[in-house]
Amino acid sequence: MSAENSVMVYIQQQSGAKAAEVSLELISKARELADELGVEVSAALFGERVAAEIPRLAELGADRVYIAEDPRLKFYTPVPYSKLMIRTIQERKPQIVLYGATTEGRDLAPRVASCLKVGLTADCTDLRIGDHTQQDKEYKHILYQIRPAFGGNIIATIVCPEKKPQMATVREGVMRMGQPQPGRKAETVRFDPALGPEDFPTEILSRVLEEKTVNLKGANIVVSGGVGVGSKENFRLIRELAETLGGEVGASRAAVDAGFIGKEHQVGQTGVTVRPKLYIACGISGSIQHRAGMDGSARIIAINTDPEAPIFSIAHYGIVGDLGEVIPRMIKAYKARV
Ligand SMILES: Cc1cc2nc3c(=O)[nH]c(=O)nc-3n(C[C@H](O)[C@H](O)[C@H](O)COP(=O)(O)OP(=O)(O)OC[C@H]3O[C@@H](n4cnc5c(N)ncnc54)[C@H](O)[C@@H]3O)c2cc1C
Repeated sequence: MSAENSVMVYIQQQSGAKAAEVSLELISKARELADELGVEVSAALFGERVAAEIPRLAELGADRVYIAEDPRLKFYTPVPYSKLMIRTIQERKPQIVLYGATTEGRDLAPRVASCLKVGLTADCTDLRIGDHTQQDKEYKHILYQIRPAFGGNIIATIVCPEKKPQMATVREGVMRMGQPQPGRKAETVRFDPALGPEDFPTEILSRVLEEKTVNLKGANIVVSGGVGVGSKENFRLIRELAETLGGEVGASRAAVDAGFIGKEHQVGQTGVTVRPKLYIACGISGSIQHRAGMDGSARIIAINTDPEAPIFSIAHYGIVGDLGEVIPRMIKAYKARV
């Protein structure tokens, strides 16, 4: 299979030179797209000592890993990283390049796009392969870059059929990480970063990492509260239910905006995407932006006083009632059973 025309993923590092979860999710998605196109999956991996990540990338579906190591690449800075990414794309000619829609991906991808004069779609929530006709010209097997637009009121499919590579950033947790295939191998293509002192105009003197206190993505149970909770004090009920069930606390954006709880708890289009075994939505109406972050949950329970609330259209179990009465009864019933 040719190394050109691949579906390439930019591998972001997180602390300890580990590949970020979103990059691994994207390798899995790239595998799906590449299989449909009959091409390879490639990965662009830059850093100080990052080669230990290659087996993981291979097991998740990468066929070829382009790696450049240099102690000065320990932490991401825009100039050397964009230079390396641009060079890798120019030399290896992928047809699609994917980045995580993280702070780093959002910094890097537009720099690369503007230098290569190609399109870039930010914050995609789905990617597919399809055909497209424009002014009587037919384009085969191009990337459909799908994302909410106009405040989430429509789901737009964006195409960049003329220029290659087609590039997109994808939000964390939106794509499912596939099952690794133990022992699967990738070809490693090591290259000299060939960076001079002029490529490092910024020096990182120290880096302070804030510990994550909320792990919504990894939780099996998420209990979320919305505006219907009524106040910051009433959020105690949501925390109590989450604690009783061994789950995490989530929230709607409106609840975050109202100051009931911190932004790190927000679920939805501009928050975290979750897929727990159980999602309990309390006093949440079920706007399209909220649903975008939780409608992949295996089981959804909704508690709402309004029987017409849109959340009931996706809930597996609906309770029409005041959460101030329903939640204490749920806690009592659960405690009585265990
Ligand atoms: C670009 C953009 C991005 C956005 N991103 C997000 C996002 O990431 N996440 C997100 O959540 N929103 C997001 N929003 C906001 C979204 O449009 C909604 O405004 C928000 O989700 C509504 O939150 P809510 O359901 O808590 O509030 P509301 O829509 O006000 O609903 C409150 C619900 O509580 C019920 N209720 C009231 N009292 C009680 C009670 N005592 N017991 C039980 N039920 C009760 C009501 O019947 C109602 O259904 C975004 C909006 C835009 C424009």
